Amino acid sequence: VTVLGQAEHSVVTTCAYCGVGCSFKAEMKGGQVVRMVPYRNGQANEGHACVKGRFAWGYATHKDRITKPMIRAKITDPWREVSWREAISYAASEFRRIQGKYGRGSVGGITSSRCTNEETYLVQKLVRAAFGNNNVDTCARVCHSPTGYGLKTTIGESAGTQTFASVAKSDVIIVIGANPTDGHPVFASRLKRRVREGAKLIIADPRRIDLVDGPHVKADYHLPLRPGTNVALINSLAHVIVTEGLVDEKFVAERCEPLAFAQWRDFVAHEENSPETMEAVTGVPAKQVREAARLYATGGNGAIYYGLGVTEHAQGSTTVMGIANLAMATGNIGREGVGVNPLRGQNNVQGSCDMGSFPHELPGYRHIGGAEVRGQFEEAWHVELDPEPGLRIPNMFDAALDGSFKGLYCQGEDIVQSDPDTQHVASALSSMECIVVQDIFLNETAKYAHVFLPGSSFLEKDGTFTNAERRFSRVRRVMTPLCGYADWEVTQLLSCELGYDMNYAHPSEIMDEIARLTPTFHGVSYDLIDELGSVQWPCNEAAPQGTPTMHVDEFVRGKGKFVITKFVPSHEKVTQRFPLLLTTGRILSQYNVGAQTRRTENVQWHDEDRLELHPHDAEDRGIKTGDWVGIESRAGYTVLRALVTERMQPGVVYTTFHFPESGANVITTDSSDWATNCPEYKVTAVQVLPVQQP
Ligand code: SF4
Repeated sequence: VTVLGQAEHSVVTTCAYCGVGCSFKAEMKGGQVVRMVPYRNGQANEGHACVKGRFAWGYATHKDRITKPMIRAKITDPWREVSWREAISYAASEFRRIQGKYGRGSVGGITSSRCTNEETYLVQKLVRAAFGNNNVDTCARVCHSPTGYGLKTTIGESAGTQTFASVAKSDVIIVIGANPTDGHPVFASRLKRRVREGAKLIIADPRRIDLVDGPHVKADYHLPLRPGTNVALINSLAHVIVTEGLVDEKFVAERCEPLAFAQWRDFVAHEENSPETMEAVTGVPAKQVREAARLYATGGNGAIYYGLGVTEHAQGSTTVMGIANLAMATGNIGREGVGVNPLRGQNNVQGSCDMGSFPHELPGYRHIGGAEVRGQFEEAWHVELDPEPGLRIPNMFDAALDGSFKGLYCQGEDIVQSDPDTQHVASALSSMECIVVQDIFLNETAKYAHVFLPGSSFLEKDGTFTNAERRFSRVRRVMTPLCGYADWEVTQLLSCELGYDMNYAHPSEIMDEIARLTPTFHGVSYDLIDELGSVQWPCNEAAPQGTPTMHVDEFVRGKGKFVITKFVPSHEKVTQRFPLLLTTGRILSQYNVGAQTRRTENVQWHDEDRLELHPHDAEDRGIKTGDWVGIESRAGYTVLRALVTERMQPGVVYTTFHFPESGANVITTDSSDWATNCPEYKVTAVQVLPVQQP
């Protein structure tokens, strides 16, 4: 890392990578950032940081940044740099032309978990008020939408129940479908500290991740389930809790709906859910499952942490509800050290969901069909809102292919690289008439765009992010936007050009509006965040300083609701032609599609995606570490270099998706969660064979 000299002053802001939401001091000299120093008073990180937040910020001034708006009539034409006025005017006129020709519902917008709460709120407002429909969705669709559905259904709020600090009071920790060492490193450090102090650790993951037997901690149990069998495993854990008399009867009687509990108890008690029966499905020895269930139910404060290995499945929402069932059955919810804790992938996944970026929900998770709530927004926004839910992202693609969806405003999200079944996405985008991409780089999606609006990085704007603990933290501008505008200002310009007036002078005014219109955020303001350092929602008249632990006396929905979680096998089955299961994940130094981290010095630690496979599978195919291998699925084909490792179980292969050339999503399929359409990235049947260097 190049250190440019001593800083002249510093600005406290928030990391723009993962859902931990670490605070940093951006140290400045001559208008330039010279280093990012983890902020000692940061409540999410207490002075700690990982290699992404610490070192991977140089992309903000990378030569690839696009700083001038561009337009083109056809995607085969070269880009033409134009003024902001011309670009905004062209985009608005195209959207209006399309709506005039194909109808009001023929356009929509996609918000990004990489942008601030205020920016996300404005995009959904533009879609609802200026486009006049509810065709707005967020990239959380492809990661944690099942968390929203599953937690809202069972406990009444679409958010994690605890603070990260709460893990210090845990006695038993279950981590399922998450690899915090790579994905949420600063939280992983807290967790490891607690395990070294004596807490028991149970890991449920197809891979032998670092937490199983890494240098700093060793798990008490590793449940190496097969990809796609989370629900089967959770039901077998529940079976042991119910049939061995380990239910917290007092908690359940006082806090949960009795009929739903009785039905659930009968369901999980059935022999088909026993660990012995389910062993053939999950591959996890029944004895291990029984011991782990007893430990979680009787070992003191039990906390569950989960990630995309839970949500990105055809049964993602079912799995989230199954996790909530476990916590309620054992009374492990509503105090410190316990709870149900989604480890959100991106910095502002929680916030983008909170801000009404779903086609059926206004800010604060309130259904657009509700006349009273809709009326409040209509009065505040001076517009009549459509009561019908709009299109989700995959529905937008389908509608594009059938000719009824023709225009898209996509802010801060590279859907071509990050969404599954790339060929399907590309076909859908190719059939649209106007795609407006707003981003800091000319990303893969921009190849299909007609208007490119330069975006601003987190260093160039004011706003807030909400981390996985429901914590609002301030993002503070340290540099002038390279393109002249912050993202929220561009959305505002576009909305005004479309004829719906927005007139915010500063993001704090947007937050004030969000707070006025959303009961869980009534008390949130920049002044309060500045005073407290950060604030966890709900923050309102009942909790003016915010809420670290939720569901303390009762669940947000009143009584907790047990839900029957029947296991349904994935559509993706191994066959003779596709005998291996591929699952995907992240690595410490890189981040998601890599648009930012690939343009920093972090590539020195990881400069390509590799296919990990077990030595037996490698030997069967004559593959050694470093060899090139072709990976074929029902959806597509790509080539990677191999990494042979005993961290994989036989029959399962794994890769990351940080580099566009690896094309991991060329081979993932369009299978998705039954409730939310979150793609099943984690289960793809593939064949792997050695090939010549491409
Ligand atoms: Fe913290 Fe996550 Fe940023 Fe690392 S990537 S510094 S853990 S917020």
